[in-house]
Amino acid sequence: MNPTQHASRRVARVVRGQPTSDGAGVKLTRVIGQRDLDMLDPFLMLDEFRSDQAGDYLAGFPEHPHRGFETVTYMLAGRMRHHDNQGNSGLLTPGSVQWMTAGRGIVHSEMPEQEDGLMWGFQLWVNLPAQDKMVAPRYQDIAPERIPEVSPAAGVKVRVIAGQFAGIDGAVRGIATEPSYLDLALDAGTRIDVPLPDMHSAFAYVYEGDASLGPEDATRRIARGELAVLDRIGGAVRMAATDASARLILVAGKPLDEPVAKYGPFVMNTQQQIVEAIDDFRAGRF
Ligand code: MN
Repeated sequence: MNPTQHASRRVARVVRGQPTSDGAGVKLTRVIGQRDLDMLDPFLMLDEFRSDQAGDYLAGFPEHPHRGFETVTYMLAGRMRHHDNQGNSGLLTPGSVQWMTAGRGIVHSEMPEQEDGLMWGFQLWVNLPAQDKMVAPRYQDIAPERIPEVSPAAGVKVRVIAGQFAGIDGAVRGIATEPSYLDLALDAGTRIDVPLPDMHSAFAYVYEGDASLGPEDATRRIARGELAVLDRIGGAVRMAATDASARLILVAGKPLDEPVAKYGPFVMNTQQQIVEAIDDFRAGRF
C-alpha cells in the first residue's frame, strides 16, 4: 500500500454561500460563482434552493438560453417542470437528476410544478472543454430509482449520481470532465473514506447536520450551508459525522485549465465567442 494514496485530501478552504435571487425572482443560495468562490474549474456555479414559502420559488426560471457548458439539477424535494425549444419536456421529481449538456445552445424554462410545500435541490454548472462547446444539446434525465444507492458500512448511504463508488458506476455517463457526483448520508458516529481521482478538483457541500473532513491531523468541521474546497492532491477524502448525522454532496471533476469568457448563461473561451453567442441567440439560431 502506498501511504500517499490512502491519506485523506485536506480541506483547502471553507466557503459559505451568499443569499441571492435568480430567474424571475427565485430565492436561493449561491455557493460557487460568487465573490468568495468565483469558480472551481471545471465547476462554474453551485446554487442551493430550499424553501417552503411558495413566494420564494413560484416565479421559477422562465425561458432563458444556455451555451457552452452543462447544467445539472438534483432535486431533494419538490417538483420542477422542464421545457425546451426543441420539444423536450420532463418532470424532475425528488431524488432525480437532470444532466443537461447545453452545447451550442438551448432555450428552456424550469418552473416549479407545485404551489406550496418544500422545494429543495441544487443546480451545478459544469464547464465544457473548448472542443465540445458547440456540440449538439443532450439530456440525461435520471429517475430516482435509476440512481444506484450503496451502503458501504452501517449507517452510511451513498447515491452514485456520477463517477464510481465501491465498484458501482454512476447513473450519468459520458461527460467530458469525468465528474464524480455523490450524495452521502452519514449517521452520527460513522466515518468513511471516499476515493477520488487524483488531481480532480473536488468539493463537499454539507446540506444537513455537520461533517468532519480531512486527515486525522487536520480535520475541519463543516457546518450545514458550508462548502469545503479540497486539495487537488490525493486519492481519497475522509469524512465523518460525529455527534449528529450529516448529509452532503461530494463533487469532483477534471480541471480544464482553459480560458473562461462568461456572460450570464453563455460560457465560452473568448469574448468574440460571447458576442457570437448573443448574436445567435437574438437571431433565433439556438
Ligand atoms: Mn437553465
